[in-house]
Amino acid sequence: PKASEHVDFNAFMEGVKRRNPAQPEFVQAVEEVAEDIFDFIQDKEEYHRWQILRRIAEPDRVVSFRVCWEDDNHNIRVQRGWRVQNNNAIGPYKGGIRFHPSVTESVLKFLAFEQTFKNALTGLPMGGGKGGANFNPKGKSDAEIMRFCQSYMTELYRHIGANIDVPAGDIGVGAREIGYMFGQYKRITNSFEGVLTGKGLEYGGSLIRTEATGYGAVYFLENMLKTRGQELAGKRAVISGSGNVATHAAEKVVQLGGKVLTLSDSEGFVHDPDGIDQEKIDWVKAHKTKRRGRISQYADEFKSATFHAGKRPWGVECDVALPCATQNELLADDARALVKNGCIAVSEGANMPTDLEGAHVFRDAQILYAPGKAANAGGVAVSGLEMSQNSARISWKEAELQQLLRDIMDGIHGRCLTYGRRDGSDYVDYVRGANIAGFKKVADAM
Ligand code: GLU
Repeated sequence: PKASEHVDFNAFMEGVKRRNPAQPEFVQAVEEVAEDIFDFIQDKEEYHRWQILRRIAEPDRVVSFRVCWEDDNHNIRVQRGWRVQNNNAIGPYKGGIRFHPSVTESVLKFLAFEQTFKNALTGLPMGGGKGGANFNPKGKSDAEIMRFCQSYMTELYRHIGANIDVPAGDIGVGAREIGYMFGQYKRITNSFEGVLTGKGLEYGGSLIRTEATGYGAVYFLENMLKTRGQELAGKRAVISGSGNVATHAAEKVVQLGGKVLTLSDSEGFVHDPDGIDQEKIDWVKAHKTKRRGRISQYADEFKSATFHAGKRPWGVECDVALPCATQNELLADDARALVKNGCIAVSEGANMPTDLEGAHVFRDAQILYAPGKAANAGGVAVSGLEMSQNSARISWKEAELQQLLRDIMDGIHGRCLTYGRRDGSDYVDYVRGANIAGFKKVADAM
């Protein structure tokens, strides 16, 4: 019998829910992709494809392990660590490592699933994976971070390799953490190889890797605006987050002549009607990364700004929005507020910051809305370029990398246009475009 005679979208999702109890983030990510894929395969001679989606929605491997580390008071602390290897049909598993108390198996499975489509969209040969631990780096000393990273790698090393699985950074994991992990990998295996990306420039890292995710999300936004004959210059941008992605997105918006009104962290957001310019962005970078401070202190430093405790920035009037903090930070009411206030484009620097209902609000209102798997792929794309440089044992110049990043973001945008239009409509549905283009590549390979 034809597969189509047995399974429709609802039956498929029932199965996903049954097999993944108490994993809401993972089910949400699968549902968002499945909506488009089932629509795409309808009435086509491609019914078998749901079976491929069924396979992609079941990670190849979930490794779960104990991570013990010693804190500065000589207590032995215990955390759970994971590496989810979702799919390696088009290349070695590739994706970041997240250290945050909200990390669960469900969160990492959703991220690894998304990563599979995102990596396919870049056009580079990378499969999808994600790792992390429910470790909270906030308030920890450098020595504690180092011991945690070493301990995490003491288990992880046996599951990764330059041609097997290549982790990188994500929330809570930057160049410092990558350095501690790379050192431990080298110590255990006695092998210097491109097993991690986001490394320091002195030992195989790539130029512009740090900037790539934020810059890429803004390049993507520029391309979206162009489809409506608009540009970023003169536009007011609302940005959430204040880490690596948010600050570099802000920087690029400013460079292209836009005005950044907000930044945020888990405690609230700052609103600066005068605009967050380069000097202020530099202050945020130093304050958040070097001094590990809170964004609320921005309002003490710059008198033009106000701090809004416990709130997210989506109620602030703007032309474009860049959610660059974390998953499910923009819900249906937030989406309605943005649409009502005249926001015309949303480019996601974070992974799945908008929930399903919020995404439907944007799509129904037909505003330009790019999901993270397309808009934030610049980071992993430059990771892919770091892998190439490591394999060839060379370092490319900044100008070459800048051009490659732009070309890759243009390529992703083009792929979204190809699959994002429904017959007879001018509206570009970037979610549909990204899902179908990413899926097609992985499915064809499988
Ligand atoms: N964590 C980033 C992402 O979500 C980058 C992953 C990587 O560079 O491998 O895509």
